[in-house]
Amino acid sequence: MAGFFERIFAGRWIAGQNIEDALKEAKRLNGLGITAIINYLGEGYHKRDAVEDAVQTYLTLILEIRKRRLRADVSTKITELGDLLDKKLVLENYAKIVNFAAKNKVFVWLDMEEHRFVDDTIKLYMLKVGKGNTGICIQSYLRRSLKDLKRLPANATIRLVKGAYSESRRVAFQSREETTENYVLLMKLMFKRFRRFTIATHDSKMLQKAIELNRAYRRDVTYAMLKGVRNGYLVALAEKGEKTAVYVPFGRVWIPYSYRRLKERSNLKLILRSLFGG
Ligand SMILES: Cc1cc2nc3c(=O)[nH]c(=O)nc-3n(C[C@H](O)[C@H](O)[C@H](O)COP(=O)(O)OP(=O)(O)OC[C@H]3O[C@@H](n4cnc5c(N)ncnc54)[C@H](O)[C@@H]3O)c2cc1C
Repeated sequence: MAGFFERIFAGRWIAGQNIEDALKEAKRLNGLGITAIINYLGEGYHKRDAVEDAVQTYLTLILEIRKRRLRADVSTKITELGDLLDKKLVLENYAKIVNFAAKNKVFVWLDMEEHRFVDDTIKLYMLKVGKGNTGICIQSYLRRSLKDLKRLPANATIRLVKGAYSESRRVAFQSREETTENYVLLMKLMFKRFRRFTIATHDSKMLQKAIELNRAYRRDVTYAMLKGVRNGYLVALAEKGEKTAVYVPFGRVWIPYSYRRLKERSNLKLILRSLFGG
């Protein structure tokens, strides 16, 4: 049964279970002029084995990206690297990955998780921001994000998203309208303050707005989407000469990620349509 659901739901959004699947997808995307942002699925780890496996997998991935001359970043999470276990461990693991990636000219992103991890994620990011090969995700549904963005140094690299977790009214905007309004506000600030960043959304209005802003500001902007969501739109942007990227998750821990995708209205509609032949 799990295999059935995995094929139906996860097959669309996940490259496969192994490193090789992710690298193959990165090569395919590169052929379309698109960079891959590869994520090894896994989060909320309480066991050292799982954390160690994640670190080793990222190191192997980085080496293979370099060897095969792929245009691919990696993207990890603090709870995948041990934040729930030991604050010293997560720091060591992040440093190990970032340093190795810098030697191999690979870029390392930190995904943003639930609200309770934002402080730790920013703190960790700040330790290596000077390396030049690191980026951090900021979510527009969080009320605090404007302050966070203002506090990040001008050499930070930000990936702006709307946010994928269920958060309370106290910390997050609840309506799509407010989240989108804040997305525009944050995006405008990013164009003013930062040189290089990623606009990560499937929302054509946001993408168009960013393209317009960039006519005036001329920043180093990448437009990014998730694997399996609206990638045709991204191919068209790549063909017009824009920098583009697709987030490519792989691995066995596919349920939390697929659940977040399933909660997104547009995805649910598409899945139901493909299941019932519409
Ligand atoms: C590269 C990347 C990295 C991400 N990293 C993180 C992260 O680290 N942390 C985090 O919390 N979240 C992350 N996310 C997920 C993000 O927070 C949102 O959950 C997700 O992108 C959906 O929001 P949206 O911006 O596409 O807008 P939505 O408001 O969901 O959609 C806006 C519009 O986009 C169009 N659209 C959306 N989906 C589809 C579809 N399937 N088919 C056709 N049209 C569609 C529709 O017109 C829709 O009305 C990431 C997203 C991307 C693209």
